[in-house]
Amino acid sequence: MKTNTVVRLARRPRGAVTTEDFTVRDEPMPEPGEGEFRVATRYVSLDPAMRGWVNEGRSYVPPVGIGDVMRAFAAGHVEASRHPRFREGDAVTGLFGAQAFAVSDGEGVSVADTSLAPLPTWLGGLGMPGLTAYFGLLEVARASRGETVVVSAASGAVGQVVGQIAGIVGCRTVGIAGGPRKCEFLTAELGFDAAVDHRGGSLREDLATACPQGIDVDFENVGGPVFDTVLAQMNRFGRVALCGLVSTYNATEAPPGLKNVRAILVMRLDVRGFIVFDFRERYDEALQALAGWYKEGRLRFREDIRADGLSAFPTVLGELFTGANFGKLILEL
Ligand code: NDP
Repeated sequence: MKTNTVVRLARRPRGAVTTEDFTVRDEPMPEPGEGEFRVATRYVSLDPAMRGWVNEGRSYVPPVGIGDVMRAFAAGHVEASRHPRFREGDAVTGLFGAQAFAVSDGEGVSVADTSLAPLPTWLGGLGMPGLTAYFGLLEVARASRGETVVVSAASGAVGQVVGQIAGIVGCRTVGIAGGPRKCEFLTAELGFDAAVDHRGGSLREDLATACPQGIDVDFENVGGPVFDTVLAQMNRFGRVALCGLVSTYNATEAPPGLKNVRAILVMRLDVRGFIVFDFRERYDEALQALAGWYKEGRLRFREDIRADGLSAFPTVLGELFTGANFGKLILEL
């Protein structure tokens, strides 16, 4: 009998996630009802946000309950359908959860055009991270030609797209990343104007050298000391698109405060947090732009695909918080 492998939340993690925080078990195969379809998952997206989703407390989505299937974006093929819009064989992406098979009613599900880009790309540059980069940079931070844009976690899923879009709109693009390999990738392969290694021990000086005209836009993915260093070099009327605070997601107590808050006042900075879901109504517009640039060869996406299966879910997820991933992190089943 065919079974379904399912990752469920076993308990609320404290600090970094461990294998004990999840169960990975075989369960009966779910059957689609009328108006539903079953997808065979091929790729599960690993996102820093997952660390927040398993915490108790106020957030932009309810926490994953203990015993629930772990919430996850995933991509696969429809293999049985009783839904009028989805046919067997369709390549689809959606919040299918960390499991080998999922039943869906189609809400929030997109059909992926695999003639344009391979399926994993629809979880990365042409998926949620790409949309985040697009709206965060162009709508939240309002980056425009001639400005200097700094993006942290720059070689990651969101950051790599931010820097490339900034280049397309005519900005000077500076990426902050961990280690020389990632920095080299940003300038040599993605066309960033400069890259700065936050592990190099001289972030403040290196950033100042990379941004001789100061910083107009900070696309903030990391928080903590990296964010603090950028804040101190922002120009008057600069904008911060506060996208993520990945350096703090495993914290077990309140992380230390920022030292350079005064820059927000004296430089009259506009600091705005956002969640990509806020732009749900405009996904099609963004996808059209992203797909167009990709087709023209102006956007490239690096994925880090691990063919380790669902049992590796907790360990691979943990790599997002040590910088061991290099590109959009995806688990292949
Ligand atoms: P990435 O692919 O960028 O992976 C995470 C990266 O963060 C690591 O590779 C590492 O890069 C960096 N990092 C981790 N810990 C630290 C630390 N302590 N100090 C400095 N850098 C660190 O992830 P994503 O692109 O998927 O996500 C990037 C950010 O965007 C996250 O904060 C995420 O929560 C946020 N996000 C927000 C969304 C929204 O709607 N607001 C939607 C999607 C993502 P390195 O080796 O370079 O240090």
